[in-house]
Amino acid sequence: MTVKHHPSEALLLAYAAGHLGEGLSLLMATHLTYCPDCRAAVAEAEAVGGAVMEESAPVVMRDGALDALLGRLDAPAPEARRPAPPSVTRRRPASSPARAVQGGIALPAPLKSYVSDLAGARWQWVGPGVRQLDLMQRPRGRDTARMLRIAPGRVLPHHGHEGLELTVVLQGSFTDEQGRFTAGDLAEIDRDGSHQPIADSGEDCICIIGTDAPLRFSGWVPRMMAPMMGF
Ligand SMILES: [Zn+2]
Repeated sequence: MTVKHHPSEALLLAYAAGHLGEGLSLLMATHLTYCPDCRAAVAEAEAVGGAVMEESAPVVMRDGALDALLGRLDAPAPEARRPAPPSVTRRRPASSPARAVQGGIALPAPLKSYVSDLAGARWQWVGPGVRQLDLMQRPRGRDTARMLRIAPGRVLPHHGHEGLELTVVLQGSFTDEQGRFTAGDLAEIDRDGSHQPIADSGEDCICIIGTDAPLRFSGWVPRMMAPMMGF
């Protein structure tokens, strides 16, 4: 299997630094199970990041700073506390290349904790020939991750994006304005991009899609349907 479509360098670095939300991280981790080149790039970025942390010069504290700090431990607690800032490092699924067959699909390891029983899963109808499975179970901010099952030859509505949209193919293939995507390929569409994926003929195209902001549909029917489908 040869992966032809990879994430941008900026996206690889953001993933390595733990700056992506859960949905996009899951997509990246899934692509990495197919792609030794991107695994190596992430490992390199992590090594560089770790080295920078280790080589950072320690901060010199002024005389008496430790005593002052210890003294404050005995002081009464303040009435109100500021809420803790949001954590920069998000949960990042593991990206080992192991795969397990579930429901006829070779499921990459990062997806295992999101899909417990694919064979018995209840797919939600999205449109003619298109079904989806919400992988996140409960909303986490603006992040989404879903699995799509698209019948051969089916055309998805033309849409743009408020943020990033990542797609990784698990089985079958689709074609859009960027080219043809087969198993392991990652499609990256930013807020300036729009596309209209068409599932290739032959077998169902099964892919996962992650976003960090809502999609923008062009036609009035998809626009009307989108909120009901959770897009
Ligand atoms: Zn890659």
